[in-house]
Amino acid sequence: MKTGIEVTAAQRTVLDAARALPTETIALTEALGRVLAEPVMSSRTLPPADCSAMDGYAVRRGDLTGASNTAPVELRVVFEVAAGGQAPRALAPGEAARIFTGAPVPDGADTVVRQEDTEGLDTSVRVHVDPPLRDHIRDAGEDVCAGDEVLAVGAVLQPGHIGMLASLGRTLVAVHRRPRVAVLSGGNELVEPDRDPSGGRIVSSNAYSISAQCIEAGAIPTNLGIARDTPEDLERLLRAGLEADLLVSSAGVSVGDHDHVRPVLEKLGCPLVFWGVNMKPGYPIAFGRFPDGRGPLVFGLPGNPVSAMVTFDQFVRPVLRRMAGHTKVFRPTLRATLAETLMKKPGRLHFVRVGLERRGDEIRATPTGNQSSGVLRSMTLAQGLLVFAADAEEIAAGSLVDVQLLDADWLSREAPA
Ligand code: AMP
Ligand code: MG
Repeated sequence: MKTGIEVTAAQRTVLDAARALPTETIALTEALGRVLAEPVMSSRTLPPADCSAMDGYAVRRGDLTGASNTAPVELRVVFEVAAGGQAPRALAPGEAARIFTGAPVPDGADTVVRQEDTEGLDTSVRVHVDPPLRDHIRDAGEDVCAGDEVLAVGAVLQPGHIGMLASLGRTLVAVHRRPRVAVLSGGNELVEPDRDPSGGRIVSSNAYSISAQCIEAGAIPTNLGIARDTPEDLERLLRAGLEADLLVSSAGVSVGDHDHVRPVLEKLGCPLVFWGVNMKPGYPIAFGRFPDGRGPLVFGLPGNPVSAMVTFDQFVRPVLRRMAGHTKVFRPTLRATLAETLMKKPGRLHFVRVGLERRGDEIRATPTGNQSSGVLRSMTLAQGLLVFAADAEEIAAGSLVDVQLLDADWLSREAPA
């Protein structure tokens, strides 16, 4: 087991252990945000035939040479084609067909004239324009051709993808399975949020923040509850999580007397790969994996609420995203201007919780105040994590810094662009 490793080494180690989960076939209506596990080939051409982009008249362009407001050309209207309809026959010279948006263009016609550029009479139409060839015609196959690979493996399904799949007649879609996560908390002091916390007890908020982080990462959490600080109770709960794809325990991994996670895991056959990452908050994080890929990947997160969340964000979230099939597993980063000078001792990388503010073209990052790992409020005030490098001691106010964006919705605007 390694100890005291760097953040990036720890991230590499955990991602090396993670694989995209097997495929499952789900209803298209459930597929938003899921990652496609097989390429989607089209068995259809869309549109299947040349069709009209406007309400108007299908014509033979050659009939309209020189037509204008002052010299309109009159064509006989011989039939009508609505969306979903079919022309009864081909269009002959001197003829027009009334046509509506989405209707197939009759054989013989090569152009559509907008209704606005015409004057409808009883059985004929006067056309006031000399349109370019194929004006207002959507070409057969301009969207998709039969045999095209329309969506590639790894596509993250957005509303447009869902609509495309529907238009190809696909109501089922093959995606990577969502990871199932067993969440447990350890500590004699812990109580559930609806219980009385007097007498020095502490609400087990971690189970809730971690479950929410799982959902945000595309996983399905199950809360296994609170283990008391005995090896027996911890073993009981850890065993209950062995069917999951990933097991997250908060607390029980520091060097305190009551921390039993490591020996119990080893008893269950899961050796630790590393314990301790050079970061703050969250030094005491442990990662274990069963040999030969049996059993879940196991993360022991620190108990302090901010440490638990930040270590989850840096190590568990990318692993869950990889399992769900994503290739872009890390958070987006922004360049921001630091609002106040930061200082620390060299040695550990600090993740400083910052609030973000847009000022014209500039983004300003302001530390959220007390950075103690017990101050959960800092997570409610932060939109980003500023990366304060391990060997650095000071970042002066006004410097440009890298900030991991925690809340992608922060990019949304109140006013239209
Ligand atoms: P530990 O890692 O067990 O030493 O815990 C460090 C701190 O985190 C202590 O103040 C614990 O009470 C607190 N803590 C541990 N587990 C949780 C939890 N599930 N929810 C909230 N706080 C916790
Ligand atoms: Mg504890």
